[in-house]
Amino acid sequence: MAGLNPSQQDAVSTLKGPLLVLAGAGTGKTRVVTFRIANLIKHGTKPDRILGVTFTNKAAQEMKERVVELLGKKSKSKPEISTFHSLCVKVLRRQITHLGYPANYTILDRGEQESIARSVLREIRVSDTQIKPSELLWMISGWKSKSVRPRGAASIAETDKEHLGAMAYRRYQQQIKNRGSVDFDDLLLLTEQLFRENPSVMQEEADRFDHILIDEYQDTNQSQYQIVKSLAGRHRNLCVVGDDDQSIYAWRGAEVEHILSFQKDWPDAKLVRLQDNYRSTGNILKLANTLIVFNKLRYDKELKAARPGGPEPPIHQFPNETKEAEETVRSIRNRLAQPGIEPRDIAILFRTNEQPRAFEVELRKAKIPYVLLGGQSFFDRKEVRDVMAYLKVIANPFDEVSLLRILNTPKRGISPKVIETIVESSLKKKQNIWKTLLDLDELAGVNDKAKGAVGRFVALIKRFQQQRESNSDLATLARDVISDINYRAELQRLYSTEEEQNVKMNSVEEVVNALGAYCQQNSKPDLGQFLQDAAIEDRDFDNDKDKKLQRNSVALLTLHSAKGLEYPEVYMVGLEEGILPHRRSIEDELGDSIDEERRLCYVGITRAQERLTLSLSLSRMKWGKPRESAPSRFLYEMIGKADNPNAYAPKRRPQKKRSGV
Ligand code: ATP
Ligand code: MG
Repeated sequence: MAGLNPSQQDAVSTLKGPLLVLAGAGTGKTRVVTFRIANLIKHGTKPDRILGVTFTNKAAQEMKERVVELLGKKSKSKPEISTFHSLCVKVLRRQITHLGYPANYTILDRGEQESIARSVLREIRVSDTQIKPSELLWMISGWKSKSVRPRGAASIAETDKEHLGAMAYRRYQQQIKNRGSVDFDDLLLLTEQLFRENPSVMQEEADRFDHILIDEYQDTNQSQYQIVKSLAGRHRNLCVVGDDDQSIYAWRGAEVEHILSFQKDWPDAKLVRLQDNYRSTGNILKLANTLIVFNKLRYDKELKAARPGGPEPPIHQFPNETKEAEETVRSIRNRLAQPGIEPRDIAILFRTNEQPRAFEVELRKAKIPYVLLGGQSFFDRKEVRDVMAYLKVIANPFDEVSLLRILNTPKRGISPKVIETIVESSLKKKQNIWKTLLDLDELAGVNDKAKGAVGRFVALIKRFQQQRESNSDLATLARDVISDINYRAELQRLYSTEEEQNVKMNSVEEVVNALGAYCQQNSKPDLGQFLQDAAIEDRDFDNDKDKKLQRNSVALLTLHSAKGLEYPEVYMVGLEEGILPHRRSIEDELGDSIDEERRLCYVGITRAQERLTLSLSLSRMKWGKPRESAPSRFLYEMIGKADNPNAYAPKRRPQKKRSGV
């Protein structure tokens, strides 16, 4: 219990029943979860009977490490600590056949989703100008995160676009199910459905654990909430920790009500509040406290600084975004010249994905190492996707998206025309493309040369399928594939400089490395399982965040991905109307999006431990022309210069009714 204050101790030593820890940023909620896991084990709970759930892979990783630290390395069994999504992957791996999917179902990656979205839109003759594939995916994801299925989407659709979208949604869902695939959002939806429709399966899964602990509970959506209820229903040992002031995923269907109404669902729940903030100095917290009271719906609470004082956070105003970036980086350089301050101690936080570019430019000029967290994910790179597609086809040749991707990559003389013929014939016969490839001899309109090329391709895949079955060394398998298809030559064809080719080849090598590491960690390595896990990590988009974070770099990250993290020195940039709060939320007169933006701002401020620097620029480029921008209303609010909470709010119509508060 060393290193815990009395309220934290109270939570950590409550070993049974529902428990809610509702507390502000930096008060040690995550610490309570870790210590409580360790304490349960100390009091005789078997580690593998404990399930800890966090929101990102990175958080899960950190929690695992902290628990191991507390317990010592010798304990053999480990608690299961995972994200909601990887928890669901495991449940579905065991149980998905109950829903009519194959046990070796695959998880679509972003590129595969997009090509399916595109083909669905084409089928129902919706042009790109009406709905783009990415837009359709955005709509579908929005529905799914609110547990809305195709039929439901059709009935709540209002605009023409929504009606078309709902139609496309139904087909999209049919298509991916026919392929034996699920998308990222399905993982939650299907698990929820599985538990609802199969009480015995639910019981079987619930029986795996005696304790469940959930971090960042304020961001659970409807499906996650139902899954938790199902899993904890029997033993009722459910501990959730969270902060209603940090709920920042309403757009993804998270409902802050879940945390606020926890005591309704679990009437005997014990409530623990934590007040002392150990993370930030007093002057940083003062801004956070002053700002957040402008939100209308919240549990009243104030953070008390365990470390009062500290430097006053300055607010800098710059004429344009270039100047803002220059001066921010100049300041970072000065800080780095101080003894004891390293790049990894510093973070630049921003609201939108367009903002970091200017800062990247300046950091490069200053030769300061930096890492853009949540940028282009490793698994989104072309060369990585190519190699992964080979592995996917070897694991499951019926994966048509991957099959089409590699059929003529690298080029092997199968022309687009031939591919079209193959696809059309498959559609007509309602058979999988792989089947068509196998019976190619019967296909009219394909010349012998192309037939020969396809034959060699099929033989290649079959050969590797055999290798996979006879030998579990997946790294060698991947290496052999890469050399067999001569992927280096493909890179030489695509990229002119040797440097570029090497960079690409390094990514390819990383895939082999990942397989090697996977085989080391698993006694029964399986290619299909590796591919599934990769799809998951990809989507949590912090797959290589872990690795990069360990390196000593300044972090550039969005406010959303900064949740739960802390840095000694934080620069929050672009504090302007239209950026934070975001333009979309200002236009949303009816909803409470401004409050969500304010929570986002609160999350940003409370990441800082020692120093916080706020800045804005008075003009910003729009399509190459400077346009004036105004300081964020949040700045006025946090320094106490906005006395009426609604002074800046647009005319309000009656609030949507919200329950449970
Ligand atoms: P967030 O809301 O941002 O997720 P949190 O409530 O989860 O924050 P933690 O990350 O658990 O807070 O803790 C914040 C910091 O305070 C960490 O560096 C942690 O080690 C430290 N801390 C927590 N409790 C104590 C304590 N009792 N004594 C000293 N340090 C503490
Ligand atoms: Mg936390």
